[in-house]
Amino acid sequence: MKRFAILLTISLLLLLIGKDQIVWGGGGATFATTNVTINFPESIGFESHVSSTDSPIVKAQFIYYLDRYGAADSTTRKHLAITPGQEVALRYTWETSDITITPWTPIVYRWRVTDAQGNVYETPPQRIEYADTRFDWLTRQNQQVIVLWHDKPQVFGDKIFDIAGKAIEKQQQLFGVQLGIPIRIIVYNNLDEFNAWHSVALDWVGGEAFPEFGITTQIVTSPFPDDYWLNAVVPHEIAHLYLYQAAYNPAAPLPVWLNEGIAQYSEFIKDDSSFLVKEAAKNRALIPLTSLADGFGQHDETRIRLAYAEALSAVTYLVNTYGESGLARLIAAYKAGKTTDEAFVEALGVDMGTFQQDWAEWLGAPRESMVTPTPWALPTFRPTPTLMTFNTKATPRPPVAPTKTTIPPATATISATPTFTPTPTPSPPANAPSIPFCGGLLWVLPLPIAAVMLRHQIRRKNLRTILSAEEDV
Ligand SMILES: [Zn+2]
Repeated sequence: MKRFAILLTISLLLLLIGKDQIVWGGGGATFATTNVTINFPESIGFESHVSSTDSPIVKAQFIYYLDRYGAADSTTRKHLAITPGQEVALRYTWETSDITITPWTPIVYRWRVTDAQGNVYETPPQRIEYADTRFDWLTRQNQQVIVLWHDKPQVFGDKIFDIAGKAIEKQQQLFGVQLGIPIRIIVYNNLDEFNAWHSVALDWVGGEAFPEFGITTQIVTSPFPDDYWLNAVVPHEIAHLYLYQAAYNPAAPLPVWLNEGIAQYSEFIKDDSSFLVKEAAKNRALIPLTSLADGFGQHDETRIRLAYAEALSAVTYLVNTYGESGLARLIAAYKAGKTTDEAFVEALGVDMGTFQQDWAEWLGAPRESMVTPTPWALPTFRPTPTLMTFNTKATPRPPVAPTKTTIPPATATISATPTFTPTPTPSPPANAPSIPFCGGLLWVLPLPIAAVMLRHQIRRKNLRTILSAEEDV
């Protein structure tokens, strides 16, 4: 067990990115150690100092981006107000209280200054993680997974760690791909703790995933995780995170039904939803899988339940027919940038249309029912969370002293070479709020936030209870 403070210090020391240092010409300026002050989720402060031996420093910038795995970085440049001179104090504070900022978001930053003669000095990029400093975290970790929890017994984290390890092992067997970045599972004890770092309050979400950071944040109110949460939710979320790393290609996004189907298939305890699919097949009311590529909709609970059930059913059929190796080939084809039809033909020997007709037939549906428009073939909606506005001041937070950390000094060298300006990418801005999904995949895929939240809600209430209650009505 390691205390949070130790983890943070180690993270800061080990994650420096010295090898990517940009060296421009000979020496002439020296940057002092950067002090990073984290006050999560309000702000993160950076302070340094630069000394020039030649002409005075007249311009300074703080440059940073969020380190998204496998995704294009969007760099933010902030011009700093300085007093020109040969000794210049550098300060930048990123205010994050009004945005949704994922705890432990990795941030890569550097300082850049220009002297009166136009020479440019820059520090090497350095990486920190925006840790949640509000609590005294306990951790359990290895190279693949990091579990963080607080104010709960050691056994709480141990159980999650063990299940997460099994889930990761299963994903490795399934896809034959190693994780590129570790998966981090952060457990909050109540909704207030969780909502405090969101720009809008979520009133019934059970958790979120942020695949580009390898992070899932979960809410567990009880002192011990129950078997269902451990064996269904944890593997489900890990599958989303793993799949992102195994399959991510911005040119070839996974259909939502496939993503959700694999996540459910990966659960150690599964909802028995097959009766929903069989009934829909019998009544010619299956939603075509091709209508579930971009999302499950957000307004019709019955449709969303059926969509999840179909996703699991279709992946189960796929594995029964083509084996887990067929599923692995399919994911590899998406990773290689194939379209859905190309990927299905390459991996399984059938196009998407044939696959879904075969699946419908396997369920007992008339083959032609999958090509006939049904009342279910509604357009899907990109959801907008329309939850209550969150007032950060309304939620009490435990008082915490800002955590001060020190980063070894960086030296910079001088050059008259003009600075290069990377072209900003069209990806979300560095300070954009992260959008939740039962994965946070919305930046990658237009996925249904509300559908997923609904799923969590359904799970909380117990799916069967809801269904039988509705049948009774
Ligand atoms: Zn999911």
